[in-house]
Amino acid sequence: MMKHKPKIVWLQAITCNGNTHSLLSANPSRFELLLNTFDFFYHPSITTEKTLDDVLNLKEIDFLLLEGAVTSNKQFYQISDSSVTDLLKKVSKKSKYIISVGSCASYGGIHAKFEENSDIKGLQDTLNIVELKKLKQPIINLTGCPVHPEWILQTLFTLKEFGVISLDMQSRPKDIYYGLAHHGCTRNEYFEWKVEAKSFGHKEGCLFYEEGCRGPMTHSNCNRILWNDVNTKTRAGMPCIGCTEFDFPRDNMLETKKNIGIPSEVPFGINKRAYLTITGVAKTFKIDRLNKKLIE
Ligand code: SF4
Ligand code: SF4
Repeated sequence: MMKHKPKIVWLQAITCNGNTHSLLSANPSRFELLLNTFDFFYHPSITTEKTLDDVLNLKEIDFLLLEGAVTSNKQFYQISDSSVTDLLKKVSKKSKYIISVGSCASYGGIHAKFEENSDIKGLQDTLNIVELKKLKQPIINLTGCPVHPEWILQTLFTLKEFGVISLDMQSRPKDIYYGLAHHGCTRNEYFEWKVEAKSFGHKEGCLFYEEGCRGPMTHSNCNRILWNDVNTKTRAGMPCIGCTEFDFPRDNMLETKKNIGIPSEVPFGINKRAYLTITGVAKTFKIDRLNKKLIE
C-alpha cells in the first residue's frame, strides 16, 4: 500500500522569491529526502502539474507555506482574480499547519515600509482574532531574509514526525531561534577583547563596534549550521543585519549607532552598565596575537 505523503502547498504573495531560491539551495540529499517524504503539491513557479484551482478544490492541506507579504488591495497585488488576503482566508481554514516562510510573510518585511499602501502586513496580522482562533494550529513564523533552507526542512520534518513544535514569543520554532547569530561566530574572541575589524571582508576583528553587526541581538543559528554548509555573513566579513527580527530592515544597517562613542544597543540580555565595565577593562589588554593579520 502507498504510504500517505503529507501535502505541501506553497503560495507566494509580494515577494522577491528569495525563500524559494534558498529552499532550492538546500543540501541536495536533504532536499531529495523532502521530495521523497512529502507530496510537494503546488508551488507557482516550481510544480507544473497542478493549478491554483486544484489547490482550491483540495479538502485538506497538510502544510500551507506562504512566502511574501500580504495585502488586501487587489489593485496593488492579486493572485488570479482574488486578493491575497481573500485567497489566504479560503485556504487557511482547511490547512493543518500554516508556516510563514521568511520575514515578509512573518512581519511584512521591506514591503511593509511602502507608505503608499499601508495594509501590507505579515500573515498573522492579516487574519482577525476570530479567524486565527478557527485555525487548527497557531501560525508558525520562520523569519529570515531569506530563511535558511534547513529551517524549513527541520520544521516540516518535526511536525510530520511529532505533530507539534515548541514556539517562542514571536511564534518561531524555539529549537531554531533560541540562540543568537553571535553564537558560533569565528570572531567571538575579538568581540570579547574588543578588537575591531579594520574593514569589511577581513578575517580579523569583530564587526560589532563599527560595522553594525547585530549578531548579539539576533535570534538565529546561522553560525552553528552555516549556509551552503560552509559559510555565514560574519565568517565572510559582512555583519549580521538582523534579518530574523521583527524590525528588519532597519535604516543604515552597515553602521553601529552610537551615543558619545558608545554603542546604543548592547548584546541581548546584558545590562548596559555591566557591558560597558567589562568592555572597558577588556580594551586595556592589548593582545598582540589578535592585532595581527591571520593570513598575509
Ligand atoms: S562579528 Fe558579529 S556575530 Fe561575530 S563576534 Fe562580532 S558581534 Fe558577534
Ligand atoms: S547572519 Fe544575521 S543577517 Fe545573516 S542570515 Fe543570519 S540572521 Fe540573517
